[in-house]
Amino acid sequence: MSADRYQQLTTTPPGRFLQSRLGLPEATPLRRYEPGAPLLDGSAVVLGAGRVAKPAADAIAAAGVTVATELPAGQGRVGAVVLDATAINTIAGLRELYDELNPAIVRLAACGRLVVLGTPPELTGGRSERIAQRALEGFVRSAAKELRKGATAQLVYVAPGAEGSIASTLEFLLSGRSAYVDGQKIVIGEGVATATGDRAKPLAGLTAVVTGASRGIGEAMARTLARDGATVVCVDIQAQGDDLATVANSIEGSALALDVTAADAGNALAEYVKDRHGTLDILVLNAGITRDKTLARMKPEAWDAVIEVNLASQERMLDQLLKKKALGKGARVVTVSSIAGIAGNRGQTNYGTSKAGVIGLVDAYAPELAAVGATINAVAPGFIETQMTAAVPLMIREAGRRMNSLAQGGQPIDVAETVAWFAQPASGAVNGNVVRVCGQSLLGA
Ligand code: NAP
Repeated sequence: MSADRYQQLTTTPPGRFLQSRLGLPEATPLRRYEPGAPLLDGSAVVLGAGRVAKPAADAIAAAGVTVATELPAGQGRVGAVVLDATAINTIAGLRELYDELNPAIVRLAACGRLVVLGTPPELTGGRSERIAQRALEGFVRSAAKELRKGATAQLVYVAPGAEGSIASTLEFLLSGRSAYVDGQKIVIGEGVATATGDRAKPLAGLTAVVTGASRGIGEAMARTLARDGATVVCVDIQAQGDDLATVANSIEGSALALDVTAADAGNALAEYVKDRHGTLDILVLNAGITRDKTLARMKPEAWDAVIEVNLASQERMLDQLLKKKALGKGARVVTVSSIAGIAGNRGQTNYGTSKAGVIGLVDAYAPELAAVGATINAVAPGFIETQMTAAVPLMIREAGRRMNSLAQGGQPIDVAETVAWFAQPASGAVNGNVVRVCGQSLLGA
């Protein structure tokens, strides 16, 4: 967000009122990715002595960041602190979190990054280790709430054997690409992670499809995937034709007018991509609608439309694409959930159902896609500044914007950057995740 826009948002009277009444922290302009800029402002410190510390330090150094293995003496700030907590296998051992991070947390720079690395609890060797590893989640979520000035904290569970597949995730989390991702848990498991070639164009040579690409978050996704090197097919319904063509032309992609709820939308997509581009490498299922009313007042058409566009169309398209073998080795599917699907939202029983269903969809398809060498993950946006949220009444909007650890709304680009990370060939071991892009919203936390 530009400084001007930021000033506008944080100096509105309702914004100041809520900030003072609710004791909310002041919003800091977030560090966002700029092509060519360094991954991190300052150095990274990698602490801990588990199985992931060395691969993590190597991956961060390979991305051009100066890495130390202990906190530098003095009071100077560091850009990131990464703690390998995989060696913690007892409750008593959790004291390491305090010992290592009590001195380190105060040294984090503005928009700094705290990343804790653990072992997925279900993959641990015994009961005590499982308890200790599960405990990391509460630590990270709490630390994230304590961090100020745009700094964030995340937990990355690295499955044993996946130590070599962490680079794209660490780069994403340390960089400005993850500006509005906070307090999240990410699991890196099996799956083949291809090394990143050109860091400025990690999607070079790939074909991406984005549904609902004519505006809002979908437009940002199409632009971001194109920025990262992909050729993008922008899909939207006929009614959005002009906007769609404008977006597609400006990123040298193509525009496909297609209603995702059409009975053969998946087949049509498969054929279009095969004819024009060969393979379908990245599929982003973003098209979504709201038809809000409390359940008692909701018309059946409003229920049906939301379930159909947001969820049923996705299952149908995936089934058709899989049947046609259009999603093969290396393919990346990314779908869009919402915090409404996690926390629930008054007046959104239809929407909340559809968006929780999207999480079910990720769970249900992840093994099948893994079997063909592909992945499926979801982003779950919180309050993102779009036409959708601009329509929300002022005070509710101001509350939604501020009720999160970063005390501000996110931008469409923040959701798009998360999609672009999932989409990378180097993210082949990131499968079955739902990552919220919500600034650690207090809703459904
Ligand atoms: P948006 O501005 O309304 O954009 C959605 C796009 O999808 C529109 O261009 C829309 O076209 C298109 N679309 C709708 N039905 C379609 C269909 N049947 N076939 C093809 N395209 C269709 O919404 P947004 O705010 O960018 O949201 C994008 C996604 O993020 C949605 O899935 C939404 O649920 C999710 N999300 C947004 C937020 C937020 O804060 N904005 C928060 C959580 C989740 P029409 O205008 O013609 O309908």
